[in-house]
Amino acid sequence: IKSKLPHVSTTIFSVMSQLAQENNAINLAQGFPDFNTDSELITRLNYYSTQNYNQYAPMFGVEKLRILLSEKFTKLYQSDYDFQNEINITSGASQAIFNVISTLIHPNDEVIIFEPAYDLYQPTVELFGGKVVPIKLKHPEYSIDFEELKQKISAKTKLIVINNPNNPTGRILSEEDLKQFEKIISETNAYILADEVYEHITFDEKKHQSFAQLKSIKDRVFIVGSFGKLFHITGWKIGYVLAEKELMKEFRKCHQFNVFSTHTPSQYALADYMENAEHYLHLNQFFQEKRDFFIEGLQQTKFEILPCEGTYFLSANYAKLSDLNDVDFATKLTKEYKVATIPFSAFYQDKTDHNIIRFCFAKKNETLEQALEKLSKL
Ligand code: PMP
Ligand code: GLN
Repeated sequence: IKSKLPHVSTTIFSVMSQLAQENNAINLAQGFPDFNTDSELITRLNYYSTQNYNQYAPMFGVEKLRILLSEKFTKLYQSDYDFQNEINITSGASQAIFNVISTLIHPNDEVIIFEPAYDLYQPTVELFGGKVVPIKLKHPEYSIDFEELKQKISAKTKLIVINNPNNPTGRILSEEDLKQFEKIISETNAYILADEVYEHITFDEKKHQSFAQLKSIKDRVFIVGSFGKLFHITGWKIGYVLAEKELMKEFRKCHQFNVFSTHTPSQYALADYMENAEHYLHLNQFFQEKRDFFIEGLQQTKFEILPCEGTYFLSANYAKLSDLNDVDFATKLTKEYKVATIPFSAFYQDKTDHNIIRFCFAKKNETLEQALEKLSKL
């Protein structure tokens, strides 16, 4: 078979999770919670499964869930999306992102991606014949160089992918950053794919700035979210896309022949559960406590902890602990110290290595404690 992705191998998340399993290591690599899902949500799921809500959901997604998302965006970001024509439920944020890219990208279109970047974007762009133009976030603070962005935008730039709050850096964009984007984008024909799956995980009273707020370019923005991150259910694979009517029309043309629709009982269960905003508005506080707990422990080691303003990932430089490259260091940590992490070089096309690894702290405190105990032996 002639490979469509000759340079791509198995995603680092599978590689490290498997290595963790083989070595009986604590998995702080792949991002998923190890604590139980709220039983109220499980009860709703059981209810809808047993009440025979088991056939195809509407292609757009269950109506009540779309209405609640529409209300949420109006309330939180003063941005109105019509639930009929501008919101679609997807099979996770992954399928949403894949589908946005399939909707927009023609051969030779350029797509700007900020690195370190979540590993899904680049291969998907390439599958559709697009060309990735990477821009490295400024090391070590991981801020955006807007001058470089202006230089790299060309007549061929079809799409700019922005992940905020950012995986893996844990950094978030400010209101000023978004204004800069708005200004730059309004002078181009580029579209924005705003991957905002960690929108409710921001710390220290800092508010998430959604691209949905940028009124003057709203007709060129796709917003992507994930219920996996919102309700600790990464295995359910339910997400969503918001976009203005004309964009959504094209998105749906692709979506209908991709998965058509998404798991039915989960959508009904999520709609009931989401009615109570208390179920997601305290996520920042919940994860901030975990972040602080983990940082406190890690401060007792020689890791140099990098700032974490959002997401459930914390990164650290290990240069004072080892001369190994980040892949070898993460492998050794898994095999010998029984803690799995993600080497940062996996998030760069050119495998840039700054001796940084990423920890996921979406874990029970006892799991974090056990991991810290192992890391203290380094
Ligand atoms: N984008 C980012 C930045 C992520 O971290 C993830 C997490 N897995 C996704 C997209 C995909 O989300 P989902 O699991 O809902 O497909
Ligand atoms: N988003 C998760 C992470 O960054 C992993 C998702 C996946 O395994 N594909 O760890």
